Amino acid sequence: MFVTSTMAVEQSALLLDQPDQHYTLSGTARYLIDPSATATAEQVLGMDDSRFELLDRDHLALGYSEQAVWLSFGVQRAAGSIFDQTDQWLLGVDYPLLDHVDVYVLQNEQPVLLFQAGDSLRFDARPIDHRFFVFPLPLNGAEVLRIMVRIESSSSLQIRPLIVRQDQFLSFEKRHELWFGVIYGIMLLMALYNLFLFAFVRDLSYLAYVCTAITSMIFIMSLNGHAFAVLWPDHPSFANTVVPLSSALWVMATVWFTRQFLNVGSVSPWLSRLIVSLMLLSAVAVALSVFAPYAVAIQSSTGLALISGLVILITALVCWARGIREARFFALGCLFYQGGAAMLILSRFGVIPDTFLTHNAATFGILIEIVMLSLALSDKYRLLTQGLASSADDLERRVIEQTQELNDANQQLQQLTLQDELTCLANRRYFSSELERHWQEHAVSGSVLSLVLCDIDQFKQINDTFGHDLGDQCLIRVADRIAVQAASLGYRAARLGGDEFAVILPGVNGEDAEQLATSLLEDIRTTSLPDKLGEGRFSLSLSIGISTTRPSADSSARQLLQQADQAMYQAKQRGRNCLVVFQESVTDSRK
Ligand code: GH3
Ligand code: MG
Repeated sequence: MFVTSTMAVEQSALLLDQPDQHYTLSGTARYLIDPSATATAEQVLGMDDSRFELLDRDHLALGYSEQAVWLSFGVQRAAGSIFDQTDQWLLGVDYPLLDHVDVYVLQNEQPVLLFQAGDSLRFDARPIDHRFFVFPLPLNGAEVLRIMVRIESSSSLQIRPLIVRQDQFLSFEKRHELWFGVIYGIMLLMALYNLFLFAFVRDLSYLAYVCTAITSMIFIMSLNGHAFAVLWPDHPSFANTVVPLSSALWVMATVWFTRQFLNVGSVSPWLSRLIVSLMLLSAVAVALSVFAPYAVAIQSSTGLALISGLVILITALVCWARGIREARFFALGCLFYQGGAAMLILSRFGVIPDTFLTHNAATFGILIEIVMLSLALSDKYRLLTQGLASSADDLERRVIEQTQELNDANQQLQQLTLQDELTCLANRRYFSSELERHWQEHAVSGSVLSLVLCDIDQFKQINDTFGHDLGDQCLIRVADRIAVQAASLGYRAARLGGDEFAVILPGVNGEDAEQLATSLLEDIRTTSLPDKLGEGRFSLSLSIGISTTRPSADSSARQLLQQADQAMYQAKQRGRNCLVVFQESVTDSRK
C-alpha cells in the first residue's frame, strides 16, 4: 500500500522546467481529508491509496470545517535544465487565515517535519517573512522531492498551493504589496479627511463614516494577512480574534452610518426596524468574536456581514427610489462592495478566472465603497449647503420685504398721527411742531414768517340746522379749498380742530399773506356747497386773522399764534367774512 502510494507520487511528480512559471498543483497533488484531524503524517502515509483524491483544480475550498486536509505531491527540477540548478523554489499557500500549515518531506520513506506555520503561531515562526504561507523547497538536483502538507483551520478552509521561483515570487509580491499599500493609504486618508470634517461640521454621519472606514480597513488588512504581519506579529491569538471582531465592528459602523446618513427612520419604518435589528445583531457578533470559540465567531460574523450587506443595499436602493438624492453614491458604493464580494466567490468557484483582480475583488470592492461613501457624504453636504444658501436667500429676501412693509406701515402710522382724520389735512400736532421748527429757523435766518388763521362763520348753525354729517362735508369742502390755495404757493394747510384752519407761510411777508387770505375768502364765498344742501339756502364764509413777524430769540411761536388768533377774533367782531391783519396797536381789516 505504502509503496503504491509513493510510486504514484513519483510518477506524477511536478516537473519544474519553466523558470518563469507559477505552477499550481492541479493534476499533480492528491489530497486526503482527515475528518477527525488526528492522523499523524506516518498514519496518512500508510493509508490506502483509494482514500486519496487527485487535486483536479487550482484550489480546494472546503468551507468551515473541523477536518484536516493532507496534500501529497512530488516535485523535481528538470534534468539538465536550461536555468540555474541552484535557484530557490518556493511552495506557497495563499490563504492567510489558516491555523496550521505543516510541511513534511519524505526521507527514506519516512515523513520528516520540515516547517510548521499557521496563524496560530507567532509570525516569526514562518520560514519566510510573508503574509501568507511560503516555504523554501529543499530540491536536490533533479531528484524527486516528495512533500506532504497538512492544513487545518477553524477559518474557512481555502487552499491554493503554488510553486514558484523565489526571485519571481519576490518581484510579483513587491508589486502586489505596493497596490495594497495604495489601497490602505487611500482608506486611511479617507478616514482622516472625514475625521477633520467631523471636527468642523459636528454631524455624526462623518464620525460613523470614519468608524466604517477604519474598521473595514482593519478587516481587509486582517483578511489579507497584513494586520498580523505588520501590526501584531507577536500576538497570534489577538490576530485571530481581530478577524471576526473587525468584521462585526465594521457591520456595526456601516449600519450606524446607513442609519445616520440616509435618515432611514423617516423613509420607512420597517427598514428602520431592520436596521436597528442589525445593530443589535452586530453587537451580539462583537461579543461572540471576543468570547465565543473562533469557529462560532467567524461564522456568525461572516453570516452577519452577508445579510447586512444585502439589507443596506436594499435600504439604499429604496431611499434612492423614493427620491432621496444623497442615496445615489451610497447605493453605488454598496453595489461595488457586493460586486466585489460576488467576484471573489465566483473566482473561488472557478466560474471566472482567478486573477489578482478577482482574487482581491472584495478588497477593491470595499475600497471603492469607502470612496463612494465619502463622495456620498460630500454630496449630501453640498446639497445641504445649497439648500441652506437658498433658504438664507429666501430669509434675507423676506426680511427685506418685511422691513420695507414695516417702514411703510411706520410711515403711514406717522402720517396718521400727524394727519387730521376727517379732512386729511395736517393736524394740530403737525402744525405745532412745524410752527416751532420754522420759528427756530427764522430766528436764525432773520427772515419773516406769516401765519394765516381761518375759522368758519356760524358753523354751529349749519350743524344744528342740517345735521352733523353735512357739517362734516362742509368741513371737508372748506379744508379742500384751503389746501388748494396753500398748495398753489407751495405750503401745507392744517386743521387745528373744530372749524379752525391754519397755513404757515415761511419767508412770506404780510402783503403776500394777505393776498393769499383774500383769494381764500373769495374762494370760499364762491365755492359750491355739498350737493344735498342746495344752493341759496345758506353759504359758507371764513373769518381770517393774519400775523407776520421776524422771529427772534426773545419771542416765541406761541406769540405769533396768539396774534393771529386775536386778529381772527377781530374779524369775527367786525362782522365775519373778512380778514384782519394783526398790528401792535391798530388792527387792519379787509372784506
Ligand atoms: P363763529 O362764527 O363765531 O365761529 O360761530 P360758530 O358757530 O362757528 O362757532 P364755533 O366756531 O365756536 O363753533 C365750532 C363748531 O364746530 C362747534 C362744533 O359743534 C362744531 N364742530 C367741531 N368739530 C366738528 C366736527 O368735526 N364736525 C362737525 N360737523 N362739527 C364740528
Ligand atoms: Mg366758527
